[in-house]
Amino acid sequence: MTEIIELEKKVLSENDRLASAIRNQLKAHHITALNFVSSPGSGKTSLLEKTLGALKDQLRIALIAGDVQTENDANRLIRAGGEMVKPMVTHDACHLEANMISGILPEFDLDKIDLLFIENVGNLVCPSSYDLGENMKVVLISTTEGDDKPAKYPAMFRRASVMVINKTDLLGTSDFDMDRVKKNALGINPGLRIFETSCRTGDGLDEWYAWLKTIVTQN
Ligand code: MG
Ligand code: ZN
Repeated sequence: MTEIIELEKKVLSENDRLASAIRNQLKAHHITALNFVSSPGSGKTSLLEKTLGALKDQLRIALIAGDVQTENDANRLIRAGGEMVKPMVTHDACHLEANMISGILPEFDLDKIDLLFIENVGNLVCPSSYDLGENMKVVLISTTEGDDKPAKYPAMFRRASVMVINKTDLLGTSDFDMDRVKKNALGINPGLRIFETSCRTGDGLDEWYAWLKTIVTQN
């Protein structure tokens, strides 16, 4: 057991070293990077699709689409208008690591990017431990999930800067309690910025887009 813990520490410190090199590289090119995490099916790809479609003429957006086995999400994002989308198939690994990001970054022209989206593998556990060199983690939950997600996965909600509550068009069809989820999440991380969106109806997306434009301008 101790040996496993020691090995894990070593992997994580190597990851942190690489992540800080990535962060410096992105900063030198004035790129804002967001690491999107959620359970499978919360709507990361849908939100990114909508965002690419809406902002592609205003911001130069690149995207790394992490997926366990397929390039399906990357293909959806390319169809949505993403000109700089690369799939990152992890072959069964349940999270992205900094070495995967540093391996794929040379495929992009960093001088032509304002905003880099990294779609992590759907999982709220280990992606919280792996810094990818991003500016912020964005955690998504949807109204079709249990509203106790923040309580169950506090590390992720503590390390995220932003929480997007997606599928608001389905509110009322389950016991999901919007006030409870926000209160729980803010109890864990009072600085969390919260958006409520529906990719289906478009509700809340304008606020999300406006915020993205602001963080890019400020960076
Ligand atoms: Mg996806
Ligand atoms: Zn993992």
